[in-house]
Amino acid sequence: MKRIGLLTSGGDAPGMNAALRAVVRSGIYFGMEVYGIERGYAGLIDDNVIQMEMRSVSNIVQCGGTRLRTARCLEMMTVEGQKKALDTLEKHGIEGLVVIGGDGSFRGAKVLSEYGVPTIGIPGTIDNDLEYTDYTLGFDTAVNTCLDIINKLRDTMTSHERVSVVEVMGRHCGDIALYSGIASGAEIIVVPEISFNMDEIVSRINRSRANGKHSNIIVVAEGVMSADEFSKRLQSVTEYSVRPTCIGHVQRGGSPSMADRMLAAQFGNKAVRLLNDGIGNRVVGIRNNKIIDMDIIEAVSMKKTFNQELYETLQMISM
Ligand code: ATP
Repeated sequence: MKRIGLLTSGGDAPGMNAALRAVVRSGIYFGMEVYGIERGYAGLIDDNVIQMEMRSVSNIVQCGGTRLRTARCLEMMTVEGQKKALDTLEKHGIEGLVVIGGDGSFRGAKVLSEYGVPTIGIPGTIDNDLEYTDYTLGFDTAVNTCLDIINKLRDTMTSHERVSVVEVMGRHCGDIALYSGIASGAEIIVVPEISFNMDEIVSRINRSRANGKHSNIIVVAEGVMSADEFSKRLQSVTEYSVRPTCIGHVQRGGSPSMADRMLAAQFGNKAVRLLNDGIGNRVVGIRNNKIIDMDIIEAVSMKKTFNQELYETLQMISM
């Protein structure tokens, strides 16, 4: 394979730039020409293609966001849109493609593979909502951003003896809430995978106060309820003062952590190695600390499971 393409799609995630760098540099190492496609599948359909050189990816390993920019593109879900995308690839002689994004982006990658363009998916999403890989690119940084904010909230909540309700991202997957809850020492997490009972939450708060605590942190995943709504409901049944905070889009930005930069380097390199061997229709990931690859269809059809043991750990150690 002499010419490959590269795009970022769906929601942006810290570490995408480091992955761009790894793909471009690995491609050049193997003697390939690498073409960057701007704005995800929208740019592929609109022919927004630029050649990327060794120096095109200088000084971005530490940057959040994605230099190729990203988009959600409904047209890619139509046969006409897919044909336009294929025309662009053909026009530039691009023989293989690397797609960095979440499960939706992988579905687009699967379509292109079915049309005969070997395509490799790199899991770039802060949600950690893909079952086939232990971690997705951006998740670690997003959780660290949440921790930084929760640490600060804890200072003021303790001074005023308040209850802090913190809303984090995660529509269907509670992993950001689970990991930031455990790592910040939150007493309670509320996630889409497990139904909650407000009376039990009030009992836990009361118990912790009786045990000498001066404040409480509750981390709520956005898919369950907003921090505002949750705080209103909780305030109506507790005597303690409740304050909502929505972390919001801050979670998507920032310099990637060491863990995400390492994933980016390894995912990007593995994706290009596969293309160099003429292999497509795969996604890369990490399992048990080993970089793996798997069939795209198999990967996107796996249902994400919630880590019940970690949830119970939080219940036991945050009293
Ligand atoms: P995130 O997890 O951050 O939301 P994502 O990749 O899952 O990222 P989506 O918006 O679901 O984000 O998908 C990104 C893009 O992938 C869509 O806007 C669309 O262009 C393309 N896509 C999604 N599903 C399909 C599909 N079934 N066929 C073709 N293209 C698709």
